[in-house]
Amino acid sequence: MAGSRPKVGVLALQGDFREHLNVLRRLGADAVPVRRPAELDDVDGLVIPGGESTVMDKLSRAFGLRDPLIARISAGMPVYGTCAGLIMLSSEVLDAAQGQQTLGGLDVTVRRNAFGNQNDSFETDLETPELGLPPVHAIFIRAPVVTRVGAAVTTLATLPDGRVVAVEQGDLLGTAFHPEVTNDTRFHRRLLERIAAG
Ligand code: GLN
Repeated sequence: MAGSRPKVGVLALQGDFREHLNVLRRLGADAVPVRRPAELDDVDGLVIPGGESTVMDKLSRAFGLRDPLIARISAGMPVYGTCAGLIMLSSEVLDAAQGQQTLGGLDVTVRRNAFGNQNDSFETDLETPELGLPPVHAIFIRAPVVTRVGAAVTTLATLPDGRVVAVEQGDLLGTAFHPEVTNDTRFHRRLLERIAAG
């Protein structure tokens, strides 16, 4: 890493990447959009934003980013995925679109659009012991849930009914909700800490 200011990419193929760039810049990071393999080569860590995982999957292949992303993830680059980004990092997806692929890295199974039509967007406060107080104000937008957590995966947050909505495995972090649209920077700071430690 050059200097003390981490260079953090935000995958900017689709979705709410601008919000993540804003949060990272507010935290003092040198945050840049990533759309090409050369831009990915240049960053020390990455955020994969919310959006639509099926579209992100297709565009990552069209832009020649899929294989480079998989290579960086398996080489240990810290990555934080929110919502569709969590889906992209998951090793298995239930209710995937036909032909939909993920990048993998996180040994979890997620179910897309797990809250159905009635309740597809909602807000709630979540206890997150690993992040401390106050609880995280979590905004869910057509969100997935984690239905299987691998042995090496730590659960960071669950809904009151026990469903898992935030996980961590080594340098990979995933939330089904969107801290980039609240003023809670703890997840982004956690990513920056991982990058600094690397
Ligand atoms: N439902 C979207 C998907 O399947 C995720 C929604 C989001 O990122 N807010 O990718």
